[in-house]
Amino acid sequence: MHNAAFQKLGLDAVYLPFELPPLEFTRLMRELKKTSLSGFNITVPFKEKIMPFLGGISREAAAVGAVNTVKRRGKIFYGYNTDVYGFTRALEEAGFTVKGKHAVVLGGGGAARACVYALLREKAGQVTVLNRTAERAQQLIRDMRGHFKGARLSSGNMSKEKIKEALSETDLLINATSVGLKKNDPLLVTKQLFPKREIAVCDLIYRPAQTPLLKMAAASGNRVLNGLPMLLYQGAGAFEIWTGKKAPVELMRQKLVLRSN
Ligand code: NAP
Repeated sequence: MHNAAFQKLGLDAVYLPFELPPLEFTRLMRELKKTSLSGFNITVPFKEKIMPFLGGISREAAAVGAVNTVKRRGKIFYGYNTDVYGFTRALEEAGFTVKGKHAVVLGGGGAARACVYALLREKAGQVTVLNRTAERAQQLIRDMRGHFKGARLSSGNMSKEKIKEALSETDLLINATSVGLKKNDPLLVTKQLFPKREIAVCDLIYRPAQTPLLKMAAASGNRVLNGLPMLLYQGAGAFEIWTGKKAPVELMRQKLVLRSN
């Protein structure tokens, strides 16, 4: 999607993927500084590890505690988090209302942190964070309280009881765990745990396009959204940071949809 966008805008730039062994990270970051690279994206497991190599970070990236987009600013690399923007735009486009609503976020990693930050910024009425490792969810809400005074936040583990209790009063369920990526992954929320009324369900996973969670939620009459629009808009956000130009979103969407089919 980035290369198509560069081409459309007549920009002399190219976007390339690099798979990096974790042990090579420090060496690569030092080497990159010596090049004329204008910017890059960074993903799992480097979104936090990159912090010491940056000369500055945006307010959002600092609050979320993760950087996914880096831009060269003179002699330094500056970090941003466009997952927050990507998630916000994806929900908005799907017509999932956040203001005043109760959202349940499954997960405690970087993606969950971006979602919770976005939900609070969009004035969600209440956010419950449930994670396999409950302490991580607890830390997440502690950190967010520092940025959103008076926000209604709670956390817990992902036991059936906790999920059922949280879902009984939710309007919006978000899966920000990596469960659903692999073929034989378990279903984190079974049909019995779903409330009887319709809710909106968003899974950040985009491949497969329909995770078991989304299939089950749709079959039970709920509104569903996968992670593709978030991927698109976090990319559009990064593109605009790097180039200072408006991203050709529809072209980027076409390219993504083609690749995901
Ligand atoms: P991460 O930091 O590695 O976090 C992984 C999360 O999944 C943690 O909360 C972890 O729980 C949980 N988890 C992993 N295996 C589990 C299991 N078997 N049972 C229950 N929970 C489990 O990863 P991340 O960066 O937050 O990414 C999370 C997901 O979001 C990934 O699927 C990623 O592809 C997706 N994502 C999508 C977009 C998009 O643009 N659509 C953007 C960012 C991320 P513990 O804390 O207990 O380990």
